[in-house]
Amino acid sequence: MTLSTLSPSPVPVRTPHPTGPSVRGPLPGPRSAELLERQSRRESNARTYPRRLPFAVRRARGSYLEDLDGNVFLDFLSGAGVLPLGHNPPEPLEAAHRQLDEFVHGLDFPTPVKDEFTGLTLGMLPEPMRSRTRIHFCGPTGANAVEAALKLCKTATGRTDVVTFQGGFHGSSLATLSVTGLVSQKAPVGGRMPDVHFFPYAHCHRCPLGLERDSCSVNCAGFLERSLTDANGGLPLPAAVVLELVQGEGGVIPADPEFVRRLRAVTRELDIPLIVDEVQSGCGRTGTWFAFEQYGIEPDVVVASKALSGLGLPAAVILYDERLDVWQPGAHSGTFRGNQAAFAAGVATMKVFDRDDVLANVRARSVQLIGRLKELRALTPQVSDVRGLGLMLGVELADPVTGRPSSGLALRVQREALLLGLVIELGGRDDGVLRLLPPLNCTEAEVDIAADILRTALSRALSAAG
Ligand code: PMP
Repeated sequence: MTLSTLSPSPVPVRTPHPTGPSVRGPLPGPRSAELLERQSRRESNARTYPRRLPFAVRRARGSYLEDLDGNVFLDFLSGAGVLPLGHNPPEPLEAAHRQLDEFVHGLDFPTPVKDEFTGLTLGMLPEPMRSRTRIHFCGPTGANAVEAALKLCKTATGRTDVVTFQGGFHGSSLATLSVTGLVSQKAPVGGRMPDVHFFPYAHCHRCPLGLERDSCSVNCAGFLERSLTDANGGLPLPAAVVLELVQGEGGVIPADPEFVRRLRAVTRELDIPLIVDEVQSGCGRTGTWFAFEQYGIEPDVVVASKALSGLGLPAAVILYDERLDVWQPGAHSGTFRGNQAAFAAGVATMKVFDRDDVLANVRARSVQLIGRLKELRALTPQVSDVRGLGLMLGVELADPVTGRPSSGLALRVQREALLLGLVIELGGRDDGVLRLLPPLNCTEAEVDIAADILRTALSRALSAAG
């Protein structure tokens, strides 16, 4: 069966492929290979995903992707965390279709659909934050929204410096690259935003301070507290601290709760705005609408993008405390800030979350998947950690003796998994972490299929390594 035999949209059943993934030949298949070859001649050398996931997409539905050669993959990449309800979910798709016929490009004019989207989005915040939160619609990327957050905090405080964390990822624009940890991407780009200070991100499994595993009493928090308050610490009071609550690209590292609590306390005490970058962790990915809810903190600025529309139509916002609302008209303008179809899809998505209690599914599937991933440890001591929050999960592969990331093994597992019909991403230091971002409405059966494939893929990758 291929996806072509599925009923046309809107699809009544969410999981369209009863027999699971099927890959019939070597990858890429001949028709995909043709497009990949043309792509490699015509597109930038910076192209990313098709290098390690070599296929051309024909169509997709629910948790499944079909390539041009008829191979069907279970997609646990979800458009880099963009698709909370899988591909082409019926209600958001239908809402977007209807909106396309009405009005598409809205700049920042109010419209009924934007009004509803705004109300529902603010309503997703914890109750005490709702009435004092403002929303700004940004250019339609996560990076643009992080830029907006940084600009807003600089303007509101009149300060210059920004504190960020090692291992973090905030985007590929100049300013967001400047607050990102990835040295290889920033080293070739001169003229980055100055006055950025990187601090260690508490992660006891791989202590950034090189301390013994059990000796930590959240030293990273103490170091940051002392640095912020030391008159000779070299760090002027910053305009903002920017933080991912789960470092995604950095290797799926949930922040330590005590670290976050103390970080919030010290930033509040010193009146430093705390920006949480929930571009990847937001919109239900971690089992609550925003990850910060699980940390018992209230940030000053929340950045959201990827999954906001629920359909893959681009949208990005910052949600911030009204005391920061100092911008003059036009202070963060942008042509593409009013994608009405994205708002319509977003409204439908939030309603589906409510109707189907998708967050409960995230939590249940998370327990199931973590349990299954932990079984992988029995296969090899190179599975050094299984971690994450909700359905933002990672399996770290590392040499048990040296502790170095097993990048080669991770690459082989990704490749073997693809050959068995599962799409996953890599990340973390030297790409040594298998990253899983399944649709948030994935089923118990799909999680089992993915886990079985990963198990076989790891066994095969280990045998190939000899
Ligand atoms: N912040 C985080 C946490 C991200 O994961 C990403 C994208 N992976 C971004 C910002 C940048 O988003 P975009 O690619 O849409 O600019």
